[in-house]
Amino acid sequence: MAPTAIDLNREYANSVEAESTAPFNKAERKNSIAAALGLSPDTKIHYNSAVPILYEDALKEKGTTISSTGALIAYSGGKTGRSPKDKRIVAEESSVHDVWWGPVNKKVDDQTWKISRSRAIDYLRTREKVYIIDAFAGWDKRYRIKVRIVCARAYHALFMKSMLIRPTEQELKSFGEPDFTIWNAGQFPANVFTRGMTSATTVELNFKAMEMVILGTEYAGEMKKGILTLMFYLMPIKHHVLTLHSSANIGTQNGDVTMFFGLSGTGKTTLSADPHRKLIGDDEHCWSDHGVFNVEGGCYAKCIDLSESKEPEIFQAIKFGSVLENVVYDPVTRVVDYSDSSITANTRCAYPIEFIPSAKIPCQVDTHPSNIILLTCDAMGVLPPVSKLTKAQVMYHFISGYTSKMTGTEVGVTEPQATFSACYGQPFLVLHPMRYAQQLADKMSAHHAHAWLLNTGWTGKPMSKGGKRCPLKYTRAILDAIHSGVLAKAEYENFPTFGLRVPKSCPGVPSELLNPARNWSDGKADFQNQVTNLAQLFMENFEKYASSCTEEVFSAGPAM
Ligand code: ATP
Ligand code: MN
Repeated sequence: MAPTAIDLNREYANSVEAESTAPFNKAERKNSIAAALGLSPDTKIHYNSAVPILYEDALKEKGTTISSTGALIAYSGGKTGRSPKDKRIVAEESSVHDVWWGPVNKKVDDQTWKISRSRAIDYLRTREKVYIIDAFAGWDKRYRIKVRIVCARAYHALFMKSMLIRPTEQELKSFGEPDFTIWNAGQFPANVFTRGMTSATTVELNFKAMEMVILGTEYAGEMKKGILTLMFYLMPIKHHVLTLHSSANIGTQNGDVTMFFGLSGTGKTTLSADPHRKLIGDDEHCWSDHGVFNVEGGCYAKCIDLSESKEPEIFQAIKFGSVLENVVYDPVTRVVDYSDSSITANTRCAYPIEFIPSAKIPCQVDTHPSNIILLTCDAMGVLPPVSKLTKAQVMYHFISGYTSKMTGTEVGVTEPQATFSACYGQPFLVLHPMRYAQQLADKMSAHHAHAWLLNTGWTGKPMSKGGKRCPLKYTRAILDAIHSGVLAKAEYENFPTFGLRVPKSCPGVPSELLNPARNWSDGKADFQNQVTNLAQLFMENFEKYASSCTEEVFSAGPAM
């Protein structure tokens, strides 16, 4: 059959994609990569392909489609959250004395690494098409890292194209060799008979080889959190730069910077998208002597119960070029049902940061934070929606990293559990938590930021007794009062046991909400019991840090 005009057009488009010469020779780059990877000449390499091209291929993957607003809807298969128990670090001489070995960083030897790596690469070699994304991590050019993603799913390539910092044509031309490579063969399992392997999933990092291998999980978030893990190693070790699991934004009027630390689901992404402020980033930042910079070029928002009225910036970012994961949609209209958690409660959308109209691009500022906000989501309902922290309390809570772990982001978490995750990011720490805490303490001393603890979870009544989460509009009103300076000047009262200072009033927030001691649903005695319970959990958790922190920090925790 003679080719139609459409076929010819497609052929032409493909040949241009492959052969485009000026000013940057993509074909040449592809050939050199193919040779380096030992790919067969028949393998088609998609190198930093345009979004529509990645869409076209992704649509051939199982279940993938386009949402009514133009986002790519993709599915990550059996794993719809991270697999922290399967994260491993290779024990090698350059990093072995620095790594905080234990359940967070499981040791594997070079032999196991070689098996996993060759398994991943062999799998990629069997594919007809391989996707490569060359891009950057870290907006500050002084610290920027060149990252290469090699993967077999167009969805993974599009995800990382959204999440990393996209190079300009000129930057791509001079890209050279990557500093760090991720081999994502997530569709293919790890070999369970390999020493150190406990399941068919492995996420392995090698700081000497500067590579990462993914086998047995197609959850795309592993790649972005792998880069965060790399930054938690590289930045403090090589540059004395502090890496933080945090979001950040900057005031449109005053240019004041706020950083939000918090574990998954506590509100980093939600609260940093603020119409009065410019977004620097939603999840991964570094704090250097020069200021703050985002590691990523995209955001990764939770979509469960997303609504246009409550979170308009995020809702409107879900359009052509975004990747929606594991959502349920209407088969006729392709309208996504954000309330449906039947696949997972951890439904997500990845989009380039410029999809948030108020993004601060480049995502870096030569300013140090004026406000540090520690976010917690307390399902016990004990902690006040906002308290002002002393410097020692910031350190205590940063080291503790309390939250109630909600369902979803990690495999196997199905009901809220009180958890303590050092530095609000324990799964991504590479060094001992006190090393980050010390760096933070130094920065706090040097830059005199105000610090606050926000409970974005339940207050006044525990989740288990049918309480309600602090309405988003009140948390936002609290943030407005912090940013306007009003809250710092409010009258405060003591919150016993925890020794927190709680404001008696805050514009836009009902006063009775501010102190759970006064509005506890089951009376004073029950309240004190619950406070004591939570305080005990804090104290038990902190024992392991008692010997490595100062007396001042130790005494900044709850006392009975
Ligand atoms: P991750 O590290 O997994 O990306 P995150 O800290 O960015 O997590 P968000 O994506 O902001 O967390 O998730 C917070 C979720 O809680 C959102 O779905 C948001 O709608 C919901 N939420 C409900 N009430 C509040 C509140 N008062 N403050 C913040 N978020 C709230
Ligand atoms: Mn987030």
